[in-house]
Amino acid sequence: MNYWNPYLETLPREELDKIELSYFKKIFSYAKEYSILYQEKMKGIDLRDIKTPDDIKKIPLTDKEELRKYQEMEPFPYGGILGRSIDEVTTFRQTSGTTGKPVYVPETYESWQWRIEAWCHILYMAGFRPHHRVFLPFGYNVYVAFWEAHYASEKLGCELVPGGALDTKGRIHKIIEIRANGMMNTPTYGLHIAEEAKNMGIDPASLGIERMLCAGEPMPEATRRRLEGLFGCHVFDHIGGTEPCAWAGMCEVKEGLHIIEPFFLVEILDRETLQKEVEEGEIGVAVVTPLGRRSFPLIRFNTKDLVIKGKETCLCGRTSRKIKEVVGRTDDLRKIRGVLFSPKTVEEAIRHEFPEVVEFEIVVERKGIMDEITIRTEVAPGLSEKEIDHVKARLRENLKVKTNLSFHVQMEPPGSLPRYTLKAKRFKDMRETRND
Ligand SMILES: [Zn+2]
Repeated sequence: MNYWNPYLETLPREELDKIELSYFKKIFSYAKEYSILYQEKMKGIDLRDIKTPDDIKKIPLTDKEELRKYQEMEPFPYGGILGRSIDEVTTFRQTSGTTGKPVYVPETYESWQWRIEAWCHILYMAGFRPHHRVFLPFGYNVYVAFWEAHYASEKLGCELVPGGALDTKGRIHKIIEIRANGMMNTPTYGLHIAEEAKNMGIDPASLGIERMLCAGEPMPEATRRRLEGLFGCHVFDHIGGTEPCAWAGMCEVKEGLHIIEPFFLVEILDRETLQKEVEEGEIGVAVVTPLGRRSFPLIRFNTKDLVIKGKETCLCGRTSRKIKEVVGRTDDLRKIRGVLFSPKTVEEAIRHEFPEVVEFEIVVERKGIMDEITIRTEVAPGLSEKEIDHVKARLRENLKVKTNLSFHVQMEPPGSLPRYTLKAKRFKDMRETRND
């Protein structure tokens, strides 16, 4: 087993903790000096107050709303979040803006290189090497993950093939034509490529993909395995975001994700109080501080990602902390008829036990005083009426057991539900409109 950075990846735990505390202090005082957001936010907090990792917990969290607010200032378009002179900014990126006004992310050459280096850890950990010809089946636009993937592959010595401006069929032809053996995509788009290949009479496993790196949405283990089965390849997960960068990735042991230390200080906090760290095996909210990015300093950013805290050791020998599982977004977790519901549970059940289901969508509505939950389901073409009835009954039963909620199962004609290329939106809560 080898590492992208053997020194950092095998540092003893105490050393990592020491380094992270010292990096945290550095970025904290830097932010306080150069970013208007933190000059105002951290007024009453002195660097001398931070002596131990516990002291970090006294510093307030930063959320997306604050970034949006401070961006309204000059200089346009980054305003008070900027940590360098605007003349030093060399790339513009932004968040998708699907939940409100986008956040604009400034990167200087220096901060971009830092970001790419962190990404190299993720790629290398997932077994990508110079002999891989990696197909990236997206148009990059202003979205950071594709550009990170592109430049990190290049730095690692892979051969990167940009696959924008093609439809899915065109991309499949391109993979075959140039014999790509690596791919990076959302889990949903991976499944879609497999489905489209089958429609074209091509077995996805014959495409020759050896390694696939996924992100963009929580990937249940059953989905990861389904992708491995369909493409006959190794599939890895990682997690990140536009503001905090990609901060954890899966190693070849394929049990949870390693936090990329000491690039990031990651806290997993109790989701009710957002104060104390959760124990191993417990669910919490990931709060991330990128420790070396100065163009856009972020201190204790509330990612709103729900994760389960993992073990402190791994068979791969890396000493970084792990998360066991990505559960979803805090926004996705809803109460339905008083029961806490996560859409990921349904995806897990479907990918694991219902190979005949090709697409689905969950709709929650309020009928009178009752919440009703419907799963619109699309099965593979060619199933008999009797088989479809059987799927319906099994689905109703299975979801009841898994979620403690009764679902209406509604069958939809083949090809009628939306197919997603980026983040899937399979969960629709019609009871309220949320904006966050
Ligand atoms: Zn590992």
